[in-house]
Amino acid sequence: MERLQKVIAASGITSRRKAEVMISEGRVTVNGETITEQGYKVKRGDIIEVDGEQIQKENKVYFVMNKPKKSVCTLDDEFDRKTVVSLVKCDERIFTVGRLDYDTSGVLILTNDGEFANQLIHPKYHIPKTYEVIIDGILTTEQIKALEKGVVLDDGIQTLPAKLRVKNKDFDHQKTRFDITIKEGRNRQIKRMMEVYGHTVTSLHRKSLGFLTVSDMSQGEYRILKPHEVKMLR
Ligand code: URA
Repeated sequence: MERLQKVIAASGITSRRKAEVMISEGRVTVNGETITEQGYKVKRGDIIEVDGEQIQKENKVYFVMNKPKKSVCTLDDEFDRKTVVSLVKCDERIFTVGRLDYDTSGVLILTNDGEFANQLIHPKYHIPKTYEVIIDGILTTEQIKALEKGVVLDDGIQTLPAKLRVKNKDFDHQKTRFDITIKEGRNRQIKRMMEVYGHTVTSLHRKSLGFLTVSDMSQGEYRILKPHEVKMLR
């Protein structure tokens, strides 16, 4: 945390004395709010503008988390449920890259880099995502074949080819456990693919997103992405 006039002066645009004058004249905003108080404390990542010009570039940060079940990807929640962003200790204003449902766990990227996030969620970006799924009921061989080929969802959209691997050995005979890899990320896609055949998903975990996995991380744990990992995702 540093005094606003000191940060403005350090950016090289003016002296500390003149920065104080600019602040009292109402020419300075922090995160969009006009600040006239001398000695106002700013933190890393705050967006400071003088006469509408940003003086401090935001530091770009990238995390991967094993999203816990019972958490939301929105920045705040009307029902006051836990947000994934609140679990990350960081001054920057981060958000999630795409979303996982409240009851879904697994690989989730968080960043403050909007351009990077947009690239990753763009429909043309076909990074493979593998989910571990449990459904109530039995997936038939015909259903598996159809799901792998592509099915038409409730909104009329046809899914891209997918890969399924059933893992039912020593498992409940009224349920099906399988891995599915898809290359797109439509809203509630896995649940909606199952709904085509009247199946309800009872457990959903994203085990990988491209080369990223969280098998060595407990739910809620996160780490900083290494620069070469960020590069490989672009
Ligand atoms: N598909 C879903 O249905 N939900 C998720 O959270 C992710 C993929």
